[in-house]
Amino acid sequence: MTPNLNMFSLEGKTALVTGANTGLGQGICIAYAKAGANVIGVARRSCEDTAAKIADFGGSFKEIIADLSDISVVPTIVEQSQKAFGRVDILVNNAGIIKRCDAVDVSIEDWDAVINVNEKMVFFLSQAFAKGWVKDNKGGKIINIASMLSYQGGIRVPAYTASKSAIIGLTRELANEWSKYNINVNGIAPGYMETNNTENLRNDEHRSEEILGRIPAGRWGTPEDIAGAAIFLASEASSYVHGFTIAVDGGWLAR
Ligand code: NAP
Repeated sequence: MTPNLNMFSLEGKTALVTGANTGLGQGICIAYAKAGANVIGVARRSCEDTAAKIADFGGSFKEIIADLSDISVVPTIVEQSQKAFGRVDILVNNAGIIKRCDAVDVSIEDWDAVINVNEKMVFFLSQAFAKGWVKDNKGGKIINIASMLSYQGGIRVPAYTASKSAIIGLTRELANEWSKYNINVNGIAPGYMETNNTENLRNDEHRSEEILGRIPAGRWGTPEDIAGAAIFLASEASSYVHGFTIAVDGGWLAR
């Protein structure tokens, strides 16, 4: 029997993706628009590049400008997203920052900056959308972007590792509470991907060589590599997948 591939379609759905102006967030926006979704990108600066790439193939995209280090923006994001396309069906918590520094030198300000965007905002934005989904009983999808440092310790990134390890736990916790409302909470753990986030690493010849030598696939990942897992977790195809984080890492965790 031919499988019903329509289960991967996002036609008629609306997806909100944070950190949508560049990198993996941009890649996910493009993938969702190609799969038929109306896409809302949230970013602190304009998503014009993402908008242009989606307009090229006639996809549907709107942006919301918000600084995700400030928790007070949550109600505004919910309100503006409803004005843009009505009900949001899919939330991707992608925005994230990394600050590289020896653990003995990390400042309270830098610690808070990382935790606020990578962890606190992920919870409160998820809570804000889930409140509506629990009420209308029509379900929803939350996809949290984790990291290899959700599983490993890393070096010189203590706040980032703490936040990304928290993301895997939070993904499981929210799945335990919200699966019964037909809300799928899952994660994607990207490996080493070519984006701004890893620019310093890629420019460091020694670290870059070390990392590349450990990736079984033999190359860094790209935003396009995330598309398949992101569409799967946003679509009906994953309706019985709850609380799990999929690694898209070129085999890094298998080593
Ligand atoms: P990126 O190119 O640096 O993108 C990060 C995105 O988050 C940007 O759009 C950035 O906006 C946005 N952002 C950060 N702080 C924000 C704030 N306060 N308000 C609004 N937007 C904010 O990095 P990326 O690699 O695509 O990262 C996307 C996610 O994947 C992050 O959660 C990252 O931790 C995770 N990840 C990346 C890798 C990798 O190898 N690249 C690996 C594992 C996990 P601006 O452009 O304005 O800063």
